[in-house]
Amino acid sequence: MESNACSTVDVGWDALALVDAADDRPLIERRAVVRGGFYEMQARTVIERVPQVAGVAQGWGVSPYRGCVHACRGCGARAGHRRLGLDAGRDFDTRVVVRPNVVERLRVELARWDGGELAVGVGGDCYQAAEETYRLMPGVIGALEGAGVPFTVYTKSALVLRDTGLLARAGARVAVSIAFVDERIRRVVEPGAPTAQARLELVSALVEAGVECRVLMAPVLPLLSDAADQLGATVRRIASAGVRVVEPVVLRLPAGTREWYVEWLAQAHPQLVGRYEELYDGAGLPSPQYEGRITEQIAQLCRVYGMACGAPEPARVRPRAAQLRLV
Ligand code: SF4
Repeated sequence: MESNACSTVDVGWDALALVDAADDRPLIERRAVVRGGFYEMQARTVIERVPQVAGVAQGWGVSPYRGCVHACRGCGARAGHRRLGLDAGRDFDTRVVVRPNVVERLRVELARWDGGELAVGVGGDCYQAAEETYRLMPGVIGALEGAGVPFTVYTKSALVLRDTGLLARAGARVAVSIAFVDERIRRVVEPGAPTAQARLELVSALVEAGVECRVLMAPVLPLLSDAADQLGATVRRIASAGVRVVEPVVLRLPAGTREWYVEWLAQAHPQLVGRYEELYDGAGLPSPQYEGRITEQIAQLCRVYGMACGAPEPARVRPRAAQLRLV
């Protein structure tokens, strides 16, 4: 998930010692146990900073998985894999790192957490296929609920429906990315992700289950998915799914993401490479004029369909469950 959707995130790895003086093999080889195709690594710290370039409303997050089989070209979490000694391209898509102790660590860190709302699953979709095997999310939700810490889950996967009861009880928000409804685009830039139709059905089911849900129109791809008719068709389909809030996010290209995306762009649309170079600054942010224009177009469309547009207000930390039981 995710921001670009669950997606644009290069979460810090300050949790892990990156250099072991006695052993200069890549971190992944020193620390991971490979089991069933997944790389299991015990995490030392699990609440991590989400860089501002991510375009995610929360400043901090927790991710049970690193890397993501949804393989979105514009995923902003890619650079995190480099710090493990893996590459930010194909390795990110195929070598998923699992943190089996995420729940245990999270409980410890939440006991002293007062930093507000957390983003869940921005380093890799937290309901991707690995979750079927490891089932870490019920424990993550339980820990956050118990600590009274508000959170938003970023996902594109229907597996999240397994936990709707837990999410509704915890008062969680779920953000599902649907940046376009053109399957031809989805097949090339999000090859491992569910179709837009499947995600529209997912948000309808979440709304019906009473889970607070919004759609991230993320990432809007400059010159590829930003035409007026494309934006209009996407907002219309989102409105039909019953969602009331849309949050637009234009593609970010931080280091790691930028190389992988531009490599593909140069092959598929070489005539656009120069235009992207003009549009993006060194940090990977689109020009404010372009971003403002796209955001305003989407906001106008949302008004037509009676939907709110933009990031929600940060949720406030609730009284801890243990304190409530004393009342
Ligand atoms: S679904 Fe996975 S690959 Fe796609 S943006 Fe989210 S975390 Fe990245």
